[in-house]
Amino acid sequence: MAQPYPPGARLLGRPALAKPCSACGDLVGRGYPDCPNCAERVDAYWLADWGALLSGNGVAEGTPEERELATLVLADEPGSHPWTCDDWAMRRTPCPECRAELGSGALDCLVCASADQARWAWDHTAPPAAMRPDEHSLRLAVACLRSAERRRPGIVGFWRLALPFLLVGENPTRAQARRIRTYLMAGREDELSAADGIAAMASLPPLPWRT
Ligand SMILES: [Zn+2]
Ligand SMILES: [Zn+2]
Repeated sequence: MAQPYPPGARLLGRPALAKPCSACGDLVGRGYPDCPNCAERVDAYWLADWGALLSGNGVAEGTPEERELATLVLADEPGSHPWTCDDWAMRRTPCPECRAELGSGALDCLVCASADQARWAWDHTAPPAAMRPDEHSLRLAVACLRSAERRRPGIVGFWRLALPFLLVGENPTRAQARRIRTYLMAGREDELSAADGIAAMASLPPLPWRT
C-alpha cells in the first residue's frame, strides 16, 4: 500500500532573511550543531513535527514510551511519517553497535552507515509535493553537519555555508553548488562567508592576480 508521505519541516514559518546568530555571531545555522542557539533554531523544524507525533500518540517527551515510539517509527515503511520524524527517531535511538546517535557514528560503523543510507528512501520515493528541493537540501545539510567527522571536509564546509540560506528557502542549483565548492577548495571561505545568498556565493569576483 502506498504511504501517505506527510511533508516535514512545514509546521513552523521560515525566517525571511538570513541573520547573524546572537550566540555565535555567524549567520544562523552556520554554528550547527555546536552553537546552542543555531542548533535550537534549526532543530525547531524537526521538533515541531516530532512534538505533533508525540501528542498524536499521547506520548510525553523524555519518557520510555518516547523511545519505544522512535523504534516503531524506524520500523515503519518510508513515507509513513514526515521525514523529520524519521530523523528525530534516529536521534533518539542509540546505535546498537557504536552507541552514537543512530546514523551518525564513526566511519567504520556499518549499522550507522546502513541506517543513514536507509533514511534517504523517503526523499527518493516521495511525490514532488511532499518534499521541495530546498527541504531535501536542508535534510542533507543537517545530516551531514551532525556526522561531520565522517564526511569529506569540502562537503561539510559547503553545507555549513549554505545552511542559513536553505533555512530561508533558497536552494543551490547543481552548477552553483559546484562553483561554491570550487571557491571553497581555493581557500576563499572568508569571501563566501560574507556573501549574502547562494547566488552571491556562486558568483564571487575573479581574484585580482588572475585577471
Ligand atoms: Zn549560532
Ligand atoms: Zn553506529
